[in-house]
Amino acid sequence: MPELPEVETVVRGLRPILMGRAIVRVDSTAAPATSIVVSPSLPGGTLEEVLPGRTVLGINRRGKNILISLSGDLTLWVHLKMTGQFRFTTRDEPRDRHDLVSFDLARPGRVGERFGRLRLYPDTELWDQPGLADLGPEPLELPAEDFIELCHGRHRMIKPALLDQTFIAGIGNIYADEALFLSRIHPARRTDSIAQRKLIELHGQLQDLLIRSIENAGTTIINFVDVEGEGGSFQRLLQVYGREGEPCVRCGHPIRRIVIGSRSSHLCSHCQRRR
Ligand SMILES: [Zn+2]
Repeated sequence: MPELPEVETVVRGLRPILMGRAIVRVDSTAAPATSIVVSPSLPGGTLEEVLPGRTVLGINRRGKNILISLSGDLTLWVHLKMTGQFRFTTRDEPRDRHDLVSFDLARPGRVGERFGRLRLYPDTELWDQPGLADLGPEPLELPAEDFIELCHGRHRMIKPALLDQTFIAGIGNIYADEALFLSRIHPARRTDSIAQRKLIELHGQLQDLLIRSIENAGTTIINFVDVEGEGGSFQRLLQVYGREGEPCVRCGHPIRRIVIGSRSSHLCSHCQRRR
């Protein structure tokens, strides 16, 4: 699943393509009903009815969510789910059958979206929606002392906490496993049992990983590509994720994969002691 750096990469790729452009036509007939939500307060009730004529005013990220601000005080909220993608093509090319929704732009061009979830809300309703209203803080904007307070205020395993979008936003399996390895913290450790200095290290490692991954245009593990159809290159720099059985870069013990809270965790059980 695309995590914060991958979603940030998509947002940065969309800006030069979409900013200031008007949407002239939308086709969402290929999309399953469950992947599109339009606020009941919007007359027409479909993307085809509401979007044409609107101009893209801003594109931002919150957690793993993409928020496309449109003229008329509306926001198109996109979640890429497991394998969502945007693709940019000319309008002459035949529409790709995998695109669930396509947006024709005023200056020639078309943006297709596939496999994600699109929701359209007036700005006045947007931040009341579950999935945005309950999001935890952004890890790159969270001071270390607030991160410590967050962890010490709960009694739960650190790995599932990091994955919980209401605890902290944007982190998934890859960056959680890598940050815990770099800070030598066992993924099953309870948040309130981890010493302050270890949490400061974890916070620093998380921020450093996210920043470096954004600089490398994210990690391509399954199907992530940016708007230009390029994958990121950060997977070369991963030290535990997807490296089960390979020797730990620090101590040589084999990297293990264990299941914690129904998700797999990659760790070195020699460097990351449970106690
Ligand atoms: Zn090790």
